[in-house]
Amino acid sequence: VKRCGGITLNKQKIVLLDIDYTIFDTDLLKNSNLQKFALFAEVRNTLLDLSKVASLGIFSEGDIAFQRRKLEETNILEHFMEEHTHIVERKSVVIKEMLDKYKNKGQLFLVDDKMSILAMAKQYMPKVFTIWVKRGIYANIQQPIENYTPDAVVETLENIVPLIASQ
Ligand SMILES: [Mg+2]
Repeated sequence: VKRCGGITLNKQKIVLLDIDYTIFDTDLLKNSNLQKFALFAEVRNTLLDLSKVASLGIFSEGDIAFQRRKLEETNILEHFMEEHTHIVERKSVVIKEMLDKYKNKGQLFLVDDKMSILAMAKQYMPKVFTIWVKRGIYANIQQPIENYTPDAVVETLENIVPLIASQ
């Protein structure tokens, strides 16, 4: 534990979360004609608990302004550190560059409902701990990926708190 100007820096763990289907109820938004912005029920408390053991960030893809709006409309933005917030058009294009930023920083966890993204990260940087959130349209049709198994699989987010705390 390092002390720095009275602030205790013991958060060596960094967790980057995806938005759609991982923390954000994307089906609700789609089915409401893009009117209803909501997190899954367990997300707010999970992030509060998780922020006690790790620094939190985002790794999300899509329309950049609209992805950001999902965080703003759900009042969740304050949980994520700006330096760890990566909202991009396509993850696969920037994933190596993004991971390179964490080469010498703590222990990195990626949480995503798209197994292909987790597999890509693992292949490039094997020490990344990958957590697959098995919910939503992509997860439900996911076929196994050769030579890749997620480090953990969860169906709702609350289970990632003990998982990450114990790593
Ligand atoms: Mg997603």
